Amino acid sequence: MSTRSGIGYDSHRLAEGRRLVLGGVEIPGAERGLAGHSDADVLSHAAIDALLGAAGLGDIGQHYPDTDERWRDADSVALLREVAGFLDDHGWSVRHLDATVICEAPALGAHRDAMRARLAPAVGLAPLEVNVKFTTGEGMGFVGRGEGIAALAVATVERRD
Ligand code: MG
Repeated sequence: MSTRSGIGYDSHRLAEGRRLVLGGVEIPGAERGLAGHSDADVLSHAAIDALLGAAGLGDIGQHYPDTDERWRDADSVALLREVAGFLDDHGWSVRHLDATVICEAPALGAHRDAMRARLAPAVGLAPLEVNVKFTTGEGMGFVGRGEGIAALAVATVERRD
């Protein structure tokens, strides 16, 4: 049995007039949301790249180019589900997902369980096998200045024989 890990990273700019969607959960009352071609869900995008990385299947930009109108305002959890299916087609089973969202504001802890509940079934896992963590930029850098939100993810996959 072959086990592999993959890393994913993404960041998007905060903008007025956009929804804030993280891990497939729309954060109520957010003053600004993330700008992007899709729903700009950085957490789901980092998770997608972690899965693709673990399986050696490229990156999100190859599979979902932002020049393609099909992905405008796309639900990124649906893309994550599609990518998990793509891995399955290639003989890989997702075993674990861990992620960190780096966001100055708003506080996101109250939405952790909802994010886990949305992400887990998309990749065929139980909510306890998908961990989501939150931290801030401590006032430093683009996150700390409130210019954007970033996310990191690590996925573990197993090859079926
Ligand atoms: Mg992205």
